[in-house]
Amino acid sequence: MLQGVPMVFTESRHRLCMWHIMKKLPSKISADVLDNTDLRSCIHRLVWNVYIKPETFESRWNDLLQTFGLQDHSWLNDMYNIKHLWVPAYFRELPMCCLMKTTSRCESSNAAFKVNSTSANTLVQFMMCFENRVDSQRYRQRVSEYKTSSTMFTGNTDLAIEQHAFAIYTNAVFAQVQKEIIKGKFLCYITNQTEPSNSSLLIDVTHLDKRNNITNVYQVTYNTVDQSASCSCRNFTRIGYLCRHVFCVYRLKNVERIPPQYINDRWRRDALPKQVFSISSRYGVNPHAPSVMRNEILDLVTECVDVARTDEDALAKLVD
Ligand SMILES: [Zn+2]
Repeated sequence: MLQGVPMVFTESRHRLCMWHIMKKLPSKISADVLDNTDLRSCIHRLVWNVYIKPETFESRWNDLLQTFGLQDHSWLNDMYNIKHLWVPAYFRELPMCCLMKTTSRCESSNAAFKVNSTSANTLVQFMMCFENRVDSQRYRQRVSEYKTSSTMFTGNTDLAIEQHAFAIYTNAVFAQVQKEIIKGKFLCYITNQTEPSNSSLLIDVTHLDKRNNITNVYQVTYNTVDQSASCSCRNFTRIGYLCRHVFCVYRLKNVERIPPQYINDRWRRDALPKQVFSISSRYGVNPHAPSVMRNEILDLVTECVDVARTDEDALAKLVD
């Protein structure tokens, strides 16, 4: 693959799956070291870090091997020699269209079907496994949807933009975005600001880690007219939501809402049409008129509750 990919996919960058590499740790490093030291967490913290530059990765890797006396470990050295193929520090510039890892989608489908089926299954057995699997995915979707619609907002900052993020994103994505907003407030600060043109500002944002050590300095280009912002960490391009550096700038500029061009539709609370959740779309529903009407009433009530969700007055009216 290493030889074939660049010949066929000339515009692509071939990347090895980090999850699979890290999964090999226990078979490559003695259990004694893994169980009795914090090597495992140190190494994970280092390799998954998307914010550090390649040179920082290299010096930290060498420090790490030295700390644990692993300088001569042949597998770790082999992995280090191909670091440009798997460590995110070397892929910081790459747009990933909201997917953090290219293989994760098909890999997780493979894994999901493997749980219930084997290659020895007949076609009928496979179809039954398939339906089972889809059912359980639908169930998980409903649980997530319930969490999103029933969770109340608990802010960790006094910023209006945090509330706006809560109002637009699903529960799971909001948790990620909220982290960025909080870290933008507590672990980022602005060190320099220049004004290359009337409407745009170049702002340097210093990024601190949990122990308040400076990790990197990023540059945010901010448009004072339409509040658009791009950051040299390229978090938005890579993952699909704004980074702490942009939120840090937004705090300074009193921007209270995430501009619409930075909100991916797939991550909105209302990404799925309401009909998907309606009772009549489920299996084995009674087709007789009274039953259909009962279900319709329940769907309508649910929809009203959803609309009123966090508005106390509206909910009180609904109760009346
Ligand atoms: Zn950034």
